[in-house]
This record gives sequence, structure tokens and C-alpha cells, in this order.
Amino acid sequence: MGNKLLQNLHTHTIYCDGKNTVEEIITQAIRLGFKSIGFSGHGYTPHTLAYCMTEENTRKYIEEVKKQREKYKGIIEVFLGTEFDLFSCGSLSEYDYVIGSVHYYKAMDGENYAFDIKSPEKLQSRINDWFDGDAIRFAKAYYDNVARLPDKLEKMHIVGHFDLLLKSNDQFNPIDTSSKKYRLIVTDCAKYLIEKGLVFEINSGAVSRGIKKIPYPESWVLKMINDLGGKITISSDCHLVKNLNFYFEESISLARQCGFKEIQYFNGKEFEPIKICD
Ligand SMILES: [Zn+2]
Ligand SMILES: [Zn+2]
Repeated sequence: MGNKLLQNLHTHTIYCDGKNTVEEIITQAIRLGFKSIGFSGHGYTPHTLAYCMTEENTRKYIEEVKKQREKYKGIIEVFLGTEFDLFSCGSLSEYDYVIGSVHYYKAMDGENYAFDIKSPEKLQSRINDWFDGDAIRFAKAYYDNVARLPDKLEKMHIVGHFDLLLKSNDQFNPIDTSSKKYRLIVTDCAKYLIEKGLVFEINSGAVSRGIKKIPYPESWVLKMINDLGGKITISSDCHLVKNLNFYFEESISLARQCGFKEIQYFNGKEFEPIKICD
């Protein structure tokens, strides 16, 4: 397999906020020479339907992925996964794998308590409004939610975009990620998730959308995860089929620079390592 990761486990379709059908993504994966492709539709969150699958669409999504899996049998392996939010509802029993992600601070109707913040101004106002301007408390609230994922979800394999709270941080840096306090919070959370046997992802979704210049998580976090014996996989958090392998080469180089000797490949049951260094 060389130094390439021939799969993407983090992809969204028209059943949630993605732009393409299941089959369009499969055919692109075949074109790219992928050995397998995984789907990770956003799990249903009752407090907001803005980005996720409805209960009805969840059923349709599961049926469609299973149907296409049969159609492309022998050509490419198709895995049925989901990206489940801390506040998602529903059974996880049918899924081959689960990405656990935090997108929200609280689940409340009518009020948008999202950590997934798309502008630097909004990030600043959220820190001011929710935490009296204290960015450390903001970060603590985010990572506390992340640490709750493995206990709350019925099953979980991958930690989605581990430092999503930094999505709009780069311009004004209200969250000082070099501060000792911040780093301690992140390290404690990572330690806990590694103990739970979870795999982290290098996620280039915000880079493909032009919001960030580097993928999640930050380099020092990757180094720390590697030092603690944690594992990583590569994804593009694909919402548009043209981004199916977006930044894969760069992400693998980044992994290498941060000390990783291997990345993880999901085989339908478990993760197996692929060497990225000779
Ligand atoms: Zn997500
Ligand atoms: Zn996603």
C-alpha cells in the first residue's frame, strides 16, 4: 500500500449536509484507487436539523449505503459509519464504525450553542457571551464535552476533529493555544481518549473550505498524541466529492513530521497500521 492511505472514513452525503450521493462518492473513490470508502452521515440531533440527518433520512441513508455496498462488491469495500454528536440520538448497532464529535456546548432549541464557529468575530462574541471573555473556560467546556463522548456513545472508534473549537481562532487568537493552562486541558483530554483506545483523525475539512490553513489538530497536539502512544487516521471530512482525498499527501507528511511512523486503516472490523516511514 506504500505511503498512501487508500480510504476516507469521514464523508457526508445528501442525506445530511453533503452535496453528493452515496454512489457519486463511491465512484470517485474507485477513480482515486481507494481500497475502501466509509460513510459518516451526521447523526440525528433533535435540537437542530441544520446539518444532520433526520430520523427518516437516517433510515434511507442506511438502506442506500447497504444497497450500494452490494452493487460495488468485489470492486471496492464500502463501510457504513456515522459521525455521532454528543447530543445525537438513535441506535448505533447497525454501523461498522462511529466517529464521535462535539459540535455543541449545549443542546437547546432556538438558541445556537455551537462550538463549530465560522467567523473570528463570532468566536470572540461567543467567548464573551458564554464565558465572560474567559477563553480557558470556553476551551474547558469544549474538551469536557469531548471527554464525555466515549462514555455517552454506545460505541465509538474515531475522535472527530479533536480541536474543532479552533476553527475560527487563527485570525485574532482569542484562545492562546501556547498557554500552559490550555495545553494541560487538551493533554488531559487526549490521555483519557487514548486510554479508551480511540483513534484520532488528521482532518482537513476546514482547509478544503478555506477557513483554516492547517488541518485539525495542531502540530503540538499531534506530537503529544504520538508521545502518549495514540493513533491517527487521515480524513478530509468530505462534503463535496472533489475533496474526497483533499490534502491527503500533506496530512501524511504532517503526521510524519510529528513523529508518527504509521497511520491507521480500518478494515471493517478494526484498525490496522500502515507504515508511513521506511
Ligand atoms: Zn463534525
Ligand atoms: Zn464531518
